[in-house]
Amino acid sequence: MPQQKNHSYDVIVVGSGASGGWACKRLAEAGLKVALLEAGRLQSDKNFTEHKPAFELKYRNRAPEIVRKTRPIQVKFGVCNEYTFNWFVNDLEEPYTTPADKPFDWMGRLRVTGGRTNVWGRVSLRFSDWDFKAASFDGHGENWPLGYKDIEPYYDLVEKYVGITGSAEGLEHLPDGQFQPPVPLTCQETFFRNRVKEKLGRTVMPARSANLTKPINGRGPCHFCGPCERGCMTHSYFNSAFTTVADALNTGNCTLISNAMVHKVLMDPDHNRARGILYIDRNTHHAREIYARTVILCAQTQESVRILLNSATPQHSNGLANSSGVLGHYLTAHVRGGGGSGEFPAFGARPSLGGPIKPLGIYIARFRNLQNAPPYKKFLRGFGYEGESSTEFNWKAPGFGEAYKKALLEPRTSIGITGFGEVLPRWDNFVELDPSVKDIYGIPVLKIHMSDGENERAMIQDMGDSAGEMLEVAGAKNIRTYAHPSAPRWALHEAGIARMGADPNKSVLNQFQQTHDIKNLFVMDASGFTSNPCQNPTLTIMALCVRSCDYLMSELQRNAI
Ligand SMILES: Cc1cc2nc3c(=O)[nH]c(=O)nc-3n(C[C@H](O)[C@H](O)[C@H](O)COP(=O)(O)OP(=O)(O)OC[C@H]3O[C@@H](n4cnc5c(N)ncnc54)[C@H](O)[C@@H]3O)c2cc1C
Ligand code: SF4
Repeated sequence: MPQQKNHSYDVIVVGSGASGGWACKRLAEAGLKVALLEAGRLQSDKNFTEHKPAFELKYRNRAPEIVRKTRPIQVKFGVCNEYTFNWFVNDLEEPYTTPADKPFDWMGRLRVTGGRTNVWGRVSLRFSDWDFKAASFDGHGENWPLGYKDIEPYYDLVEKYVGITGSAEGLEHLPDGQFQPPVPLTCQETFFRNRVKEKLGRTVMPARSANLTKPINGRGPCHFCGPCERGCMTHSYFNSAFTTVADALNTGNCTLISNAMVHKVLMDPDHNRARGILYIDRNTHHAREIYARTVILCAQTQESVRILLNSATPQHSNGLANSSGVLGHYLTAHVRGGGGSGEFPAFGARPSLGGPIKPLGIYIARFRNLQNAPPYKKFLRGFGYEGESSTEFNWKAPGFGEAYKKALLEPRTSIGITGFGEVLPRWDNFVELDPSVKDIYGIPVLKIHMSDGENERAMIQDMGDSAGEMLEVAGAKNIRTYAHPSAPRWALHEAGIARMGADPNKSVLNQFQQTHDIKNLFVMDASGFTSNPCQNPTLTIMALCVRSCDYLMSELQRNAI
């Protein structure tokens, strides 16, 4: 079997997205020799098309059926389109399966340096002890093996580097951070914020987002061109390809190996240690081995657990690091499916084409099941809303000719909000290997079993009802709300299937994302989350990863690994 010639690495990191980028940066800057294995191809500024008009594209970005031929799952989310589709996995070559009665759209599967951070929505929110210790408050599931004070300095560190625009709101359950100046709210957003606070006591704020409003580290402030998901030549949003990974490579201590599809972790059975990685070169389909003192998986939740399940050995017959039997279980992903919109005609500015486009909108902080109020009767935990306002031409105006042209210019000014809710960790939401299906590299694929429970259904209903209530008190017209209990999964924030815990009988990782079973094997993406609070996960993924890297280095220093 061909082997990677240079195998004098301290650490192998698998995956170059939000978590892998930070792992490489932190370790390489400290002087460790790091090999970064990334299944995708190289990313480059040359691929960024945020300023390219649709008329320069072959199909004017109006033929999703062309993309659907190879990416029938990925195309369901608009960020996979004619501009970007070749950053995404080919769903036919790298499939997954589900039971017939449990459809699950596993979207946002990237195959390019930077992973999902190329196309992410950038909303960046801290968790609080209200999340880390949620089980103590309501009795469901397990507490995290760490608390807010443990992670707070790492939130500070990551936010200062990433660049998060936002406003301090003083909420205990949604802690403030190290913010760059916020992007101001529009008139109707300000009005909505004030009314909702005054009448319902809920907090509407400018979205906390990884878009720069001030320059840092050679990255320019955002110039409001809009489509960040197509890349950004001024590096004004956070994408690990041109931030953390670039920093790691600049140290000279990190080697990026692209097109390296990791199949399994290689074990030394005599010493119960990981000794390296077996991967498939995506271009040649040749298998290769590479060795290091420590292995860190950062391939995204399901992908990392797939690698662990595929790494079974006679000593670890049901997957690596699975002596507890919980590996693959407690899959969570945020519920959406509830929200609403309404019009604010009093704020109609003249609509325009080609004006500045704010790449972020508003966020409404969670208001259910919090301190100083009795528990909400209909469900546990809570949800927040992402939203935005827009001023559009009246495209649906009736009539023809002059009358139509006049009516077209009557602005339609609206606000729309969508709930993002916590899914309770449940044993019967899980992933396993499908014994009958392999990808084109010969690697067994995942079968994903996921469905909503009663709690999620009740929450979705409340997302719709509460959206209507807020729009109503703000005086919106033509209010439309929705709550679709059977909405397909919106799987971009998956977590929990190699969960952290203090008890090795009930968890896969300790609080430093080190596997309980194999001391030199870590999993530093969201698979370790003990629960999946309603706040978007990536800021916490990055902060935890840096904390775990610091622990790893201290353990290496004292030869404990
Ligand atoms: C459209 C979209 C919008 C989002 N919006 C937000 C948001 O607003 N806020 C938020 O907090 N989060 C958001 N997210 C989620 C966020 O992007 C992820 O939480 C985050 O990127 C996960 O980081 P990660 O390191 O686990 O995985 P990724 O960033 O996905 O990186 C994983 C990398 O591993 C590589 N890889 C996978 N398998 C293998 C393998 N077998 N071998 C080698 N390499 C492999 C992949 O190619 C990829 O590059 C969004 C995601 C999407 C897709
Ligand atoms: S809106 Fe801002 S961050 Fe997004 S691509 Fe344009 S300049 Fe970059």
